[in-house]
Amino acid sequence: MNERTIMVDLAGIGLGPFNLSLAALADGVKGLSSAFFERRASVAWHAGLTFSDAVLQTSPLKDLVTPVCPTSPWSFLNYLVENGRFFDFMAARFDTVSRQEFSDYLAWAADGLGSTHLDAGVEEADFVDGQFRLRFANRPDCFCRALAVGTGHEPMVPPSVTTGPDCFHASQYLVIKPNIAGRRIAVIGGGQSGAEIVLHLLQQDYDRSPASLSWFSRRDGFWTLQEGGLVDQFFTPDYLAAYRTMAPDLQARALASQKFASDGLTPSTADGIYRLLYQRRHLHGRHDVSLFPGREVVRVQSSGHGRTVVSETANGERETSQADLVILATGYRPAIPSCLDPLAERLALEPDGALALGDRYRALWDGPDANPIYGLNQGRRSYGVIDPQLSMAAWRSAVILNDFAGRRVYDLGETEERPMVAWQRQAGDTGWQPRMNGSVTSTDSQLTAWPTRGPSRRRPQSAALS
Ligand SMILES: Cc1cc2nc3c(=O)[nH]c(=O)nc-3n(C[C@H](O)[C@H](O)[C@H](O)COP(=O)(O)OP(=O)(O)OC[C@H]3O[C@@H](n4cnc5c(N)ncnc54)[C@H](O)[C@@H]3O)c2cc1C
Repeated sequence: MNERTIMVDLAGIGLGPFNLSLAALADGVKGLSSAFFERRASVAWHAGLTFSDAVLQTSPLKDLVTPVCPTSPWSFLNYLVENGRFFDFMAARFDTVSRQEFSDYLAWAADGLGSTHLDAGVEEADFVDGQFRLRFANRPDCFCRALAVGTGHEPMVPPSVTTGPDCFHASQYLVIKPNIAGRRIAVIGGGQSGAEIVLHLLQQDYDRSPASLSWFSRRDGFWTLQEGGLVDQFFTPDYLAAYRTMAPDLQARALASQKFASDGLTPSTADGIYRLLYQRRHLHGRHDVSLFPGREVVRVQSSGHGRTVVSETANGERETSQADLVILATGYRPAIPSCLDPLAERLALEPDGALALGDRYRALWDGPDANPIYGLNQGRRSYGVIDPQLSMAAWRSAVILNDFAGRRVYDLGETEERPMVAWQRQAGDTGWQPRMNGSVTSTDSQLTAWPTRGPSRRRPQSAALS
């Protein structure tokens, strides 16, 4: 074996906030060695959409570690302190934190943790002689007993659309920095990314402003996030446990009804857009912005001069509109990274293409139980609306570490007290069968109760890993 080959207990692929949380909470767990690999040369959180005024939709206290280990050195508060910024930050009295600053916090944690490896894209992951082997283009292999897949979602581009310099996904917006002055621009997608781009376009001085702006949304309106303490109850371990007991049809109904608890516009963005629209129309007499809710864009075709955007209303009427630049704020979808191809036949998939997950975020695969593959941000169907959110990142990491260590490394805050909300729970078989890629035969089992509270153990315990 190559001298420089890395051998660890747990290896993570990808260093977005979710695997970074796992790395941060694994740090200091005695007896657990880990390595986390990121293909980019630095950690930057959704750099293509990090507008200077874009803010977190969640509290910064829901950072990499605080919900389960507030004494960890990798908390957002410690980032402020270590960077000599705590008092300045407090004096600013922000309502929340900018995404730019949160991204900087993530990069700070990635730089400080000893287990992280940047510019280390995993090309191939397979399972050989009871271990996973990760291969890279530019470094020696890594062998590990368990894998954490944290490669995020991939940008969704409608199949009928051919991208190019004049038509690209919103995730590239600030990377490409398109010329917007005097051009006819269409933004497709009525979610937060679309709204942030529309706000950015409206904020330009008139001499650098687009010639026209059309904003299309499949939704029947421009809905803001549903917020508040009662709505936030969906983003708790209690609700997650209840969700896991539901049959698939109830889960689907729950996901649909909770859509705007997680996927609406930040109110400050929506208000900012509306105020600029008001000023533009009534104070400056400009009628160059059009909002098209309830339109499904079905084609974006090249025409002689620019692109023709073809959309359809709910009653089937077709409309066309011309644009020089089309931004596809059409969201993201779960995806399995191509580096897992050697394992593809052994993994079960959800209908949406995500890894099918069993209890404790273990992917369903036909390998030994002693070699788990954990799926982070793969569980919107199986773990609910909270799964793609920062809210439970630290808690999920703690569940994974407890599972892998085979003991309670972190206290998950369970209590035998009656929960504040008596969520509907449903017992019995879900009847749901994951789509099998290959010969996997295991099925999703119901989440059993999380272990009940023992002595409080907020700090990581030494975990002897057998
Ligand atoms: C613009 C935007 C704003 C958001 N804001 C919020 C918010 O305020 N609050 C909230 O709760 N949620 C928010 N979300 C949702 C969610 O928190 C984020 O999408 C989050 O980044 C998901 O983290 P992740 O770790 O799963 O994936 P990502 O952040 O996408 O990270 C995955 C990483 O894996 C790397 N990678 C992929 N393949 C490989 C490979 N083969 N080898 C090595 N590395 C690889 C990628 O380079 C990437 O760095 C936001 C999402 C977006 C798009």
